[in-house]
Amino acid sequence: MADSNFIDYVKVLCRSGKGGAGSRHFHRAKYVPKGGPDGGDGGRGGHIILRGNSHMWTLLPLRYRRHIFAGNGESGSAGRSFGKDGEDVTVEVPCGTVVFDAETGEFLCEITGDGEEVKLLRGGRGGLGNWHFKSATNRTPRYAQPGEPAIEKSIIMELKLLADVGLVGFPNAGKSTLLSSISAARPKIADYPFTTMEPQLGIVSYRGERSFVMADIPGIIEGASEGKGLGLRFLRHIERNAVLLFMVPADADDICKEYAILASELEKFNPQLSDKPRVLAISKSDMLDDELREEMSHHLPEGVPHVFISAVTGQGLTELKDMLWSEITDERNRIEVSPITHRPLDGHHRVREEDEFIFENVPAVSDEEDDMFDEDFEGEDYGYEMLDEDDPRDIDDFR
Ligand code: GDP
Ligand code: MG
Repeated sequence: MADSNFIDYVKVLCRSGKGGAGSRHFHRAKYVPKGGPDGGDGGRGGHIILRGNSHMWTLLPLRYRRHIFAGNGESGSAGRSFGKDGEDVTVEVPCGTVVFDAETGEFLCEITGDGEEVKLLRGGRGGLGNWHFKSATNRTPRYAQPGEPAIEKSIIMELKLLADVGLVGFPNAGKSTLLSSISAARPKIADYPFTTMEPQLGIVSYRGERSFVMADIPGIIEGASEGKGLGLRFLRHIERNAVLLFMVPADADDICKEYAILASELEKFNPQLSDKPRVLAISKSDMLDDELREEMSHHLPEGVPHVFISAVTGQGLTELKDMLWSEITDERNRIEVSPITHRPLDGHHRVREEDEFIFENVPAVSDEEDDMFDEDFEGEDYGYEMLDEDDPRDIDDFR
C-alpha cells in the first residue's frame, strides 16, 4: 500500500478561526469635548468548509496535511471600525467523503455531490465593540465582548466510492473489457492490503454531459462469500452501487443457471445487495449470429431486463448505457437516505450550529483606567442616540 495513490482514510486536525475581540475604545480628541464609546466589532473567525469535487478520486491530497487551520478574526478598533474577518479555508474532497470526530467517532457530515459545501467548523463570531452597550444608565460602557473561541477538532475522513453500477460476474465474463471499452477515464486504484484483488472504477460518459461511475469489483463473486481475501474496509465501497450489472458470457452452458448462481453468491455475500435493481448483459455476443440470439432470448432469466452486448464490436453498448442510466436515475430519485450512512438525506449532513455563545468574560478594567474614564466622561452628554432600555440587542447579540 506504500505507493498507493488511492487513499480512502485520513486523519487531520482542524481548527476554525477565533472571533476578533470587540474594541473598548472611547473617542477622545483634544478639542472635542464630547467623546463617547466608539469601539468597533471584532471580525469573524474563518470557517473550515468542505466542498465536494467530482474530479477527485482519492483523499491523497490530504494525506500529508496534518493541520487545517482557518484565520482568526481581527479585533475591532476606534471609530466603530470592524475587525477583518479571518480567512475561511475550503478543502476540496472527493464525493463520497464521510467525516467523523476522531475522538468520539461521532458522525459529523458527508459530502456526496459535486460542489456541495458543508461548514465543518464554524469560525468564532467577533465580539461587539463597546459602543453597542451604551445605554441611558450606562453611558460609558467599559466593556466589549471578546471574540468567540476557535473550535478545534481532530477528524477522520473516509472515502466511500460512489459507484452507480457494480459489475457482477464470474472471471472471464468480460467485465474488465467492458469497463475499459465504455469508460472515459479510469482513475488508478491501487490494490488493497486485504486482498490481492483490485477494484476498478470507470467513469462512463452518457449522452454528452452526463456520466456515471461503474465499478468492477472482482471480489464480489470470486470466493467472496466465503470471505476469501476480502476485508471489511473493502466491502464498504460496494455497498451502495445503485444498480448491479450481471454479466454472463454468451458461450456459457446455461445462462439461467449461471445467473442464478451469481445471484445466490451475492445474497450470501450481503443480503442487502440483492435488493438492488439489476440488469443482465449477455457478453461476447459477437460470437452469436442473429438466429442464435433470437433462440437464446427465449431462455433467459425472468424478471431482469437483459441486453446482448459485445465489448469488441460495440454491439448493444448504447442500449446497455440507456438501461443502466434509467435504473440509476430511478434509484437516485428513490433515495431518501444517504447511500453512504443510511441516514435520512434531509439536511442531516449539515453540521449542527454551535450553541449560542454565552458572554462570560467581561474584560477586566484596571482601577487606573477606570478613574480615567470617570474623569473624562463625568456629567457629559455624548450627543449620541441612546439605546432604548429594552433594546433587543443585548449583550449576547453578535453581529
Ligand atoms: P473479466 O474476468 O470478467 O474481467 O473478463 P475480461 O474482461 O478479462 O475478459 C475475459 C476474456 O474474454 C478475455 O480474453 C477477453 O478478450 C474476452 N472478451 C471480453 N469481452 C469480449 C467480447 O465482447 N467478445 C469476445 N469475443 N471476447 C471478449
Ligand atoms: Mg477482470
